[in-house]
Amino acid sequence: MTTLTHAIPYGRQNITDDDIAAVTEALKSDYLTTGPRVDAFEEKFAEYIGARYAVAVANGTAALHLCALALDVQPGTRVITTPITFAASANCVRYCGGEVWFADIDPETLTLDLERVRQLIESRPKGFFHGLVPVDFAGYPVDLEAFRALADEHGLWIIEDACHAPGGWFTDSKGEEQWCGNGNYADLAIFSFHPVKHIASGEGGMITTNDKALYERLKILRTHGITRDRGNLRYPDHGGWYMEMQQLGYNYRIPDILCALGTSQLSRAEEGMQRRQEIAQRYDTAFSTDDFRTANIKKIHGVPSADRRHAFHLYVIEVADRRGLYDFLRDHEIYAQVHYVPVHTMPYYQDIGYEEADLTHSERYYSGGISLPMYPTLTNEEQDFVIDRIKEFVRG
Ligand SMILES: *Cc1c(COP(=O)(O)O)cnc(C)c1O
Repeated sequence: MTTLTHAIPYGRQNITDDDIAAVTEALKSDYLTTGPRVDAFEEKFAEYIGARYAVAVANGTAALHLCALALDVQPGTRVITTPITFAASANCVRYCGGEVWFADIDPETLTLDLERVRQLIESRPKGFFHGLVPVDFAGYPVDLEAFRALADEHGLWIIEDACHAPGGWFTDSKGEEQWCGNGNYADLAIFSFHPVKHIASGEGGMITTNDKALYERLKILRTHGITRDRGNLRYPDHGGWYMEMQQLGYNYRIPDILCALGTSQLSRAEEGMQRRQEIAQRYDTAFSTDDFRTANIKKIHGVPSADRRHAFHLYVIEVADRRGLYDFLRDHEIYAQVHYVPVHTMPYYQDIGYEEADLTHSERYYSGGISLPMYPTLTNEEQDFVIDRIKEFVRG
């Protein structure tokens, strides 16, 4: 039996000497915040994803909040999202006083079930709902072409929460690769640069869009609703110092220092993606052997397909005895994690009236789902150690 002397988390960042050099250079420059490195990061990120515009912000949650503001979410605005996501995908609607409605997931893809969303929309009068927030959960790219068609039928906007999927893509009906967040089908998309995500900047987030008007609005909202754009002032005659606060915005800026790190990390995004695909393939291969065909493993969510690139932020399996496996792995210093406790079961959402929600697939998935270690610097030896421990566990 292999033994390891260190703990294995479910995800972690990879900081190289080049990253450190990039940050050091930023620290020695004239700008600590809002300088040329913000623009460079936005430009490179937009190019990577294939979107026209990108706005870098303080974190992924700020990105979601700004999207909700830019789309005029307010009391009375009703938005549909999935319960299998990080709470912020729903909270952004609540920040603006809007109503969150949860629709169930497809048990195969673990993402919003298009038909369930359709049923929910059609169960109410026309105009009742205003927007959708699909999430590329675990890195599985949602078929946004289908969601766009549904949204257009009912006049809804779409915010794609692509935090798990920079570099993921699906193939649309014309046979074209549609990268998550490229803005071809969603109005806005958001990403996070938290250390467990593909690209780490410490804290950080990005909004991408192909809509110029939304882009301009986001840039102003990011910095207090203040503009100094000469051509765009209500009172242009004050003088050179004048800045105008035109809306109620926030300070959701991201420092230049962090953008230096983000850009440096971004240059290795495809490398990291390749390694994630290899790790997923190795798990898939291991779990398809006879040793693993016990009643304890209920489902694996790896299986790659030719018509999409799963970005594998997470590698998820469903097991009969999840608590048992979780605790067993912890005893061996393998820190698997559970994504996510369904958002509608959180006390905050229970208190505002979600006790009755019919979200069977989400709750069933939550009862057995567990995310295994998945990050580019996970070595084959470490992964084999994880696989061997799971094998030990499922065999009883
Ligand atoms: C990480 C994450 C967020 C929030 O990003 P932060 O940068 O942590 O604020 C939102 N949605 C999903 C799906 C995430 O994974």
